Amino acid sequence: MTLRVDVLSLFPDALRAYADTSVLGRARERGVWELFVHDFREAASGAHRSVDDTPYGGGAGMVLAPEPIARTIEETPGLARPVIALTPSGEPFTHATATRLARLEGFTLVCGRYEGFDQRVLEAVVDEEVSLGDFVLAGGELAALCVIEAVVRLVPGGLGNDESSVEESFGDGLLEYPHYTKPAVWRGREVPEVLRSGNHAAIERWRRTQALALTWRRRPDLIERRGGLNPLERRWLTELGLLESPDENG
Ligand code: SAM
Repeated sequence: MTLRVDVLSLFPDALRAYADTSVLGRARERGVWELFVHDFREAASGAHRSVDDTPYGGGAGMVLAPEPIARTIEETPGLARPVIALTPSGEPFTHATATRLARLEGFTLVCGRYEGFDQRVLEAVVDEEVSLGDFVLAGGELAALCVIEAVVRLVPGGLGNDESSVEESFGDGLLEYPHYTKPAVWRGREVPEVLRSGNHAAIERWRRTQALALTWRRRPDLIERRGGLNPLERRWLTELGLLESPDENG
């Protein structure tokens, strides 16, 4: 099955250029996903095909008018569902969102510009809103490409090697362990001995404890979300000096 992604944007060339590149480009060539970009300016009426207007209530900036976006969504044959608008006030986009979208037959992303969308179009024709994070971009295009790349990497065949996305950060609810390559000593910094030992069980254990320790230090919220620490994990963190005892609360 080929994942169908529709994107509504005022900058279709920017989207297509990146979608043709690297992982996304190769995955499209292999038929893993297909992209349909719709410039909703084409659905605007009037000599200037204007898509924005001044905000009711006053204030700076322009607001995207509802009709061109709604018409594009309603009149595009086969447009993929659900329809997802990129907005800073949407639900945070996470690995769980990407996993859910990767299992669908497709989805549509709507990119805003200026001050954003008229609220009524979000209510009338949009199924979900997602945010890339607590910051404000100038437009939804970069957010859409981030969503697409995160999703396509998880679709079977998306990376050309299904193993590659299995052990990454967030895959098992933890951040990923650190990586090293040659040389074994670089500017006085050595690759951990265990990774050069050839002892696969020890390497596996080291990686799991490092992933846990990194997550414990940087993102305790992720550990909380997966139900806290199990007894073995408590022991590992105690051995690493990150917990005073395996019974310590955390
Ligand atoms: N006035 C809006 C607000 O304060 O929430 C910001 C509008 S922003 C300048 C223009 C467009 O960029 C938005 O409509 C949205 O499509 C996109 N955008 C900006 N930041 C985003 C984010 N963190 N996540 C997803 N989309 C974002």
